[in-house]
Order: sequence, then structure tokens, then C-alpha cells
Amino acid sequence: MTEATQVEEKEQQWGRVLICGGTNWATNGRKERSANASSDLLSPHILRSLCNVKITTLITGPSANYAIVIDVHGAAYIFGRPPSPSLATEDGGVISEHYPNKISPSSVGLRQGVKWVGGAAGRSHLFLLDSEGGVWGCGNNVVGQIGLPISMLVDKLTKVKGPWSKDASVKIVQVTAGHTFSLFLTSTGQVYASGSSECGQLGNGKTGERLVKGGKLAYDVEVPPRLVQNLEKNKIVQIASGNQHSLAMDEDGYVFAWGFAGYSRLGLQDQNNRLVPTLVPHFAGNNVLTRAHSILCGPTNSIVIDRQKMLQMAGKWKVTGDGSTGQPYTYFKPIQDIMSCRVIKASCGGCTHFVTTPEAAGNVMTVGFGQGVVGDLFLYGELGLGPDVGKSATRPQKLEPLSGIDVIDVAGGAFFTLFLARPNAALSDLTRYPEHIDSASICVVCNEDKDGVDALECERCDQPYHLGCLDPPLDEVPEGEWFCPECEQDADAGPDEEFRPALGETKPKKTAAKTSAVDTLRQGTPASTGQAATPVSNKPASVRSTTSAAASVKGTPKGGVKRKEADDSSLQGSARKRR
Ligand SMILES: [Zn+2]
Ligand SMILES: [Zn+2]
Repeated sequence: MTEATQVEEKEQQWGRVLICGGTNWATNGRKERSANASSDLLSPHILRSLCNVKITTLITGPSANYAIVIDVHGAAYIFGRPPSPSLATEDGGVISEHYPNKISPSSVGLRQGVKWVGGAAGRSHLFLLDSEGGVWGCGNNVVGQIGLPISMLVDKLTKVKGPWSKDASVKIVQVTAGHTFSLFLTSTGQVYASGSSECGQLGNGKTGERLVKGGKLAYDVEVPPRLVQNLEKNKIVQIASGNQHSLAMDEDGYVFAWGFAGYSRLGLQDQNNRLVPTLVPHFAGNNVLTRAHSILCGPTNSIVIDRQKMLQMAGKWKVTGDGSTGQPYTYFKPIQDIMSCRVIKASCGGCTHFVTTPEAAGNVMTVGFGQGVVGDLFLYGELGLGPDVGKSATRPQKLEPLSGIDVIDVAGGAFFTLFLARPNAALSDLTRYPEHIDSASICVVCNEDKDGVDALECERCDQPYHLGCLDPPLDEVPEGEWFCPECEQDADAGPDEEFRPALGETKPKKTAAKTSAVDTLRQGTPASTGQAATPVSNKPASVRSTTSAAASVKGTPKGGVKRKEADDSSLQGSARKRR
């Protein structure tokens, strides 16, 4: 899902974060940016800083130059250019993807045990949802789009209290963030809206348009959030918002659309804005299979995946040809090349579209398409097609760099894309980002260069460890991913533990001197070069790949439980290894 994640449907499946596209957060989307900037990632890379963390949720959006990801413990990590300066950690209001800002639920005053479970990322405001059904927002609130009393900026994450708050049993289960409005979906199936009603986005039947000083037009704003009309009798189970329009789907698969109708993005065959949610006839047939399974919105288009898992699109979603400004889809239509694909996940970024679909051999295939406004000029590699392929695709294409990789979610941002991938051998072959970091040249436990003895290299910090220097020692290079004791421990850190970057706060110096490399990374924590300083959990669980001892083949997921003893049966195959 793009900018909003539904809490109810969430399984506790997790994966590793991959990223492609523009990572120069300060210049992304700006004209002065040089084309083909070296910071552009043209194919998906494993995001090294979070590669040991089990991520369940990706949150970004077609207009968001930032992303939030949530781990199994309920901590949120934000990077990019957040809409609220207080979240930024660096000059220029940005957060490096190498040093994401970890936000614990307790940092806003939530009690221990409460997790972040979802959220939404708009152009200039964002939300986080907590596991108790509370919704927290920050960013631009000039028309009350966050649902808080109007102010230029809500700098810190602040709880939004809507009419639903009167009943303590009612939770917010999904939230969306358009340009100047937001939607809130309750556990009882009701939808609330706040912000500007300029094009009917609030679904309350009016815009309140009027002339004000200087001949300017003004519109009604709603704060606190107010119940959306025309949906009161339906139990809504999913909502989605583009820049200026929204969709809602009820439990029977009926779809409603409202707001701005430019390019026929509502799929209602005309360009008349709808001021209240309007039933989309296309998904209202008697045959339940033709109704909606899920919904999402791009900036200027709407997407419905029907109950046969076919993706159907309305509005403008391309620059040239069918689906472009001159020939938008005035009603919901399938995309020719993926008509036969059973869509598992779909996402829209600023100018990208992605779907995942089952492939023969039980794999998942990731498909992308999209065009930049001026050809490839203002594209950043966010389609992830790879360095040898163009940055745009007028027709759906398989993302070859993700062949064999089990992508469980995709989230398109304004200039970049995130993928969530289950660990397997193919994932382990993917390049990490950054590809190289400084690390010690010899085993950080014994600090000895034992000729001919294998050293394992941690996937995250690159520090080498002799198999026999681990506690307990390993007989063979383990199958699949392998993280050093330090990175393994970090992976299971709860939301309140401080985030330890893979690269260190300052660039660690490559040195063979005793204790230095690891300690530099540890930033003042007690020396941990001794054998048993930290509990070791180097147990690769189920062995999937049977690759023999070829160097640097990693793969297969690990159980989240720390064990003292390694499971001998699974110690085959090979992790990243060096001599
Ligand atoms: Zn050693
Ligand atoms: Zn490590």
C-alpha cells in the first residue's frame, strides 16, 4: 500500500528494506538538481543501515520525499526530508537514510508495550498510528489538514482527537494524507475528514467557496475531523487518497470516490468534482467477483484491485499515449500488459506504478512502469529497472534486478521506491547500500591474521569474525544472512533502545589495533572485543538454498529468538566470507 497501511490486515510478516531512486533528499525534485546524479540508485539495493532490522511496514507516498518504516517491535524509523523540522537530524532539514531517526512510541508519551503499527506520508504532513488506535500527526497544518487546531506547523508528533475519541473502544485503523486534507478510518467503519474542502475532498457536500480580500477564493476548512457524508450506512474497511481525491471501499467491495475529478481520476466518466462519496458503478455489480478487493490512489489516478485480483486504473497515470493528459482513463480499465497478472501488492509513487504477482516456480515477480514529465530527465531510477535499462517504462516491465527476490511489499515515494523483501539467497546477492564501508581487516575478536582460516563478514558492519572466535564457535560458514553479535543484538533492540548506525556516528577508521574498530562503532559503550561480551545468536534457521561453500552467498531467514546453541543441522551453505 502506498501512503497508508491498514492495521487490520497486517500479518506479522517481515522483510528487509530495499531502496532505489533519488537519495539526495535536499535536491530531490528541485530543478537545480543535475541529471544522472551519482547518488541515484538505479536498481534496488539493500539499505545497509536497517538490514538487520525486521521491518513489517513501509510508509511513503507519491508526494513524499521521505519514508517511515516500522519494525516488528513497533519502533518507527524515518529518513529523507520529513515535513517537520523537529524530526530532522541534519542541516537542511534532512535525515540520512544511513542514520535514520528512530522514533519510539514512548517518546510521545505512550506507555511501554504500545507499538507503532501504521501511518501515512503526505507531501507536507505525516501520521503515525499506534496499536491502541491513536493517531499522531505533524507537519503543515495551515488548513487544519492534520486535524488539529489550525497553525502553520505542528512541529512535534501530536495526538489527533476527533469525534471518535468520545468512545474509548473506537480505534483509528487507517489514515491517509492528501495535499490539504486527511482521512481517518475507525474500527467501526466510519470515515472522518479534516482540512480544506476546496474540491470536495472532505465529502461533506460543500466547498464553502467564497471571495475574500483581493479577489481571492477561500474554502471551508474542517477541524477537528468531521464525519464524511453518504457513507454512514456502509461499513468502510479501506480508504485511499491521492493529492486531491479519495476512495473508500466497504466490506462488500463497493467503491466510493470523491474530491477533485480532473483527468477523470474518480473513474466516474466525467471531470465533475464530487462533494460527497459517490458509488463507482464499475464495482457495484451483482457478481461479487467483480467488486473491489483493495484500493489505492496515485497523485492523479485511482486504482482498484478487484476480487479476481485484476488491477484497474482510472485517471491520468502516464505522460504519453493512453492514460496521459490527453487520453486519461475516464473509467476503470485494466492495463493491457498486466491484465492476466494476479496482483498481490500494488503501489503508486510520484510517477511510478508497481505490482507484485505470482510467477511460475512459486516466486514473486515485481513489475514496474511509469514515465517522468520530461522523459528520463527528472527521473531518479525510482523504477529500479537497473543501470542498463532506461529510467522510464511506458509499458509494464519486470524488474530484473529483483528476479528471485520475494518482495512482500512495495511503497512508491515521490522520487524513490522502497521494497520489503524476505531474506533468501537471491536477496543476499543484491548489492548493499552503501556498497563498501570501512571495517577491520582482521578478526575483531582475536585480532590475529590466521593464515587460511575463514573469517565471516557481518552483512551490516562488515566486521570480520573467525568462525572459531564466535561464542559458540561455528564449524562452517552458516547458510544465509549472517550478522555479527553486535548487529544481531541491535536487531532485537526494543523501540526504546537507541539506534546504532552501521557506519558509526563518525566514519570509523580502518585499523587493526585491538578494540578500536568495534569500539568506534559502539560509541563509548564498554569494550566488547572479549569472547563472551555479548550473547551470540548466529543460528540460521530453515535452510532453503543448498548452495555449497561458494563465497558470499547468503540467504534464508533467521528466527528472531536468541539462542545460545547453534543448530548444527543448518550450518551449511555459506555466508559472506573472507580470508
Ligand atoms: Zn579470530
Ligand atoms: Zn555487524
